[in-house]
Amino acid sequence: MMPAPSDGRSDNHRVGARQAAPGSNAAAASRGTAGRAPTTAANAPPLLDLRQLAATYVEGDAVLPVLDGVSFAVGEGEFVALIGPSGSGKSTLLDIVAGLLAPDAGEVWLDGRPVATPGRLGRSAYMRQRDLLLPWRTALDNAALALEAAGTSRRAARQAVRARLPEFGLAEFADAYPAQLSGGMRQRVAFLRTVLAGRALLLLDEPFGALDALTRAAMQDWLIDLLERERRTVLLVTHDVEEAVFLADRVVVLTPRPSRVAYVEPVPALRPRRRTIVTTPIFVAHKAAILGALGLLNGEGD
Ligand code: ADP
Ligand code: MG
Repeated sequence: MMPAPSDGRSDNHRVGARQAAPGSNAAAASRGTAGRAPTTAANAPPLLDLRQLAATYVEGDAVLPVLDGVSFAVGEGEFVALIGPSGSGKSTLLDIVAGLLAPDAGEVWLDGRPVATPGRLGRSAYMRQRDLLLPWRTALDNAALALEAAGTSRRAARQAVRARLPEFGLAEFADAYPAQLSGGMRQRVAFLRTVLAGRALLLLDEPFGALDALTRAAMQDWLIDLLERERRTVLLVTHDVEEAVFLADRVVVLTPRPSRVAYVEPVPALRPRRRTIVTTPIFVAHKAAILGALGLLNGEGD
């Protein structure tokens, strides 16, 4: 599904010095999926389990430790938001989960088994931070890309996309080119492409980061509706505390780089999520807890 790394990141940038930590208590962190009724047995392994992930970029003499033992898990059907200061390694972590990067140490478990780095490719649907549409392909053909990359014929891929354009609010725009679409529409095309990849696990890296506030709120509502119709497991990176609380069952907060998990805030029983909840005392309390963990209630942070 994803092409090979194209941004210069590769295992060559890595120092592979440390040993993977055997087992961790990360699975324990996957509980608390109150919001959506789990479909699996209570003792089923988490869909995604990150164990003591460490990563360092090395460029010439510069050594930049980015992840320093990050452990958390995401249960099946759960929506986890990952929040942290800019540069704390959130995109690096998603690249690792997607199988585009190897960690220096630690393990990624999928469905109860450790999966080495090349083997994770194609196990999740990944919408990268700057997931640009191809300007020379129409909305229809951009959305069809993931299916085509997975070996579906262009004709069948187009058919599958057409069937779902209306629910993505794109029925009238099948033949439009990206430059003719609004920011929200382009995001929905990228979402359609991601969702059509048909993976249980969606990795979303700041999907609404470039949108204006109103479009962003509309897209968040739209994503909630989509997930109510079509259950998926989601790991969403954001730097927006309100977005994290609004969307997630659990919010994982990273420390500044080199990052570890600083804090985990469960956000149970706020469903169905409707815009009106953002002013309720419980919502504001969740936000305050996360802002505190980020050090933003004392004038710290960035
Ligand atoms: P975030 O998504 O949390 O903002 P990133 O994972 O993108 O953080 O980056 C973490 C740190 O690693 C940043 O300081 C960034 O500049 C650096 N970095 C990211 N990619 C590379 C790379 N390919 N080579 C060297 N440094 C990188
Ligand atoms: Mg990032």
